[in-house]
Amino acid sequence: MTKQFIVANWKMNLPETSLADYVDILQDDSADNNILTQIILCPPFPFLASLQNVLTQTSISLGAQTVSAHEKGAYTGDVSAHMLQKVGAQYVICGHSEQRHYHNFCDEDVNVQARQVQSVGLTPIICVGEPLSVFETHQTHGYLQQQIKTTTAGLAPNMIIAYEPLWAIGTGHTPQLEDVEKIAQKLQPHLPPETPILYGGSVKAENAQSFMRLSSIQGLLVGGASLDPYSFKNLILRATSNTI
Ligand code: PEP
Repeated sequence: MTKQFIVANWKMNLPETSLADYVDILQDDSADNNILTQIILCPPFPFLASLQNVLTQTSISLGAQTVSAHEKGAYTGDVSAHMLQKVGAQYVICGHSEQRHYHNFCDEDVNVQARQVQSVGLTPIICVGEPLSVFETHQTHGYLQQQIKTTTAGLAPNMIIAYEPLWAIGTGHTPQLEDVEKIAQKLQPHLPPETPILYGGSVKAENAQSFMRLSSIQGLLVGGASLDPYSFKNLILRATSNTI
């Protein structure tokens, strides 16, 4: 069986519990200790180090939500890939739609960020996704193909792709399962063999398993539903359960 990933993107939020309680709640049942599913928690930058302390001795990994395109220097407010590696991050989300939107990042910027991430031995989680107008006019495949081509140019195979339709993020709307399956299948030939493709966009405990069961999808990127540890744990259990 191929490895699957469930990534929690807390965005600029913190859970209402302490970090230690959050992790205890996720961990307190052997059922979620499924070695085939890698859980990755991506807190805001200032909490990376303290979360990493809590994650030691667990099978949960640490991820960051973005990274500077530069190695070091006069880039006030930015955080380098090397710094993320030093605090224990193993994964870095690159090109999340909110980063692209609020910081005007284009696909070339995302590519440079992903290169920085790989240069220090970490794994980029590269986000791609089409706006509603593109989806409605049936141009999703061409749009994503171009995004993949530019964002992954020159990268080593060590990467994860997250397909997140922009109109599904935080909206409660999700694409049809058949559409996600077809879209992910069409992306595979443009990626190194075995590159995991995750689905993201309004994933909840109720729909997690249906996305996870798609043969072309190897995991989930979860925003809002990852903040409450009990709901997130329920989502993980349902996503990874063998029952229908
Ligand atoms: C996200 O932040 O990438 C995301 C998919 O958010 P949500 O699950 O809240 O739609």
